[in-house]
Amino acid sequence: MTDTAIAPAAIAPTVAAPVVTDRLHLLPQTNRLRALHTVIRDRDASRADFVQTSAQIFRQLLDTALDLLPVVSQQVRTPVGQTYHGLRPAAPICGVSIARAGESMESELRAMLPQTRIGKILIQRDRTTKLPHLHYAALPPDIARSQVLLLDPMLATGGTALAALALLREYGVFEEDVVFVTLLSSPEGISAVQAHHPRVRIVTSAIEERLNGDAYMVPGIGDFGDRYFGTDQPR
Ligand code: URA
Repeated sequence: MTDTAIAPAAIAPTVAAPVVTDRLHLLPQTNRLRALHTVIRDRDASRADFVQTSAQIFRQLLDTALDLLPVVSQQVRTPVGQTYHGLRPAAPICGVSIARAGESMESELRAMLPQTRIGKILIQRDRTTKLPHLHYAALPPDIARSQVLLLDPMLATGGTALAALALLREYGVFEEDVVFVTLLSSPEGISAVQAHHPRVRIVTSAIEERLNGDAYMVPGIGDFGDRYFGTDQPR
């Protein structure tokens, strides 16, 4: 699928304080997590530190998200001849990254679940209309049978997230089968997702104070994609 405009009704801005419900999972603000945040929030962090530290937070986020998915019983025999009454995922899991920033989360997901399929969506904001525009999507045709982890490290205005969630709905994915996994989130972005897709769960490591006039989160980390992929630096 390529180049599809997103219906304006699907992206109407909604600004309200996020409602903390069982659908919004903020990682425990441990000293360890705050130390990791301190590295990536530092404007002087090297790219290597930024990438490596982001990956450690992605692991925590993905662990939390995977723990929300349904499981069924599975018994295995241990090497000493005992039965272990264990668990396995009840449905296939599919990652969907929102390019470009979401691609940074793929390698951690692949390391944790090597068999997991990973789809991709490219949505960009039209310079004139300011509306999100779907340029490209590659998703498994049977994605509706999966539990979907939607990956984007930045939930800012929520426009891109809403466009991605609208596309997943077109593919038949139920809201309750989607976990949106994001490193930093804004109150505006969370409220937009909650208003339009109330059954989608959000897992985030920080809820920022607000958006500034350029739609960057405050205190934030600046442009995630530029810092992660090095496109903010001259050679
Ligand atoms: N995208 C980013 O990379 N950073 C923000 O603060 C908001 C959107």
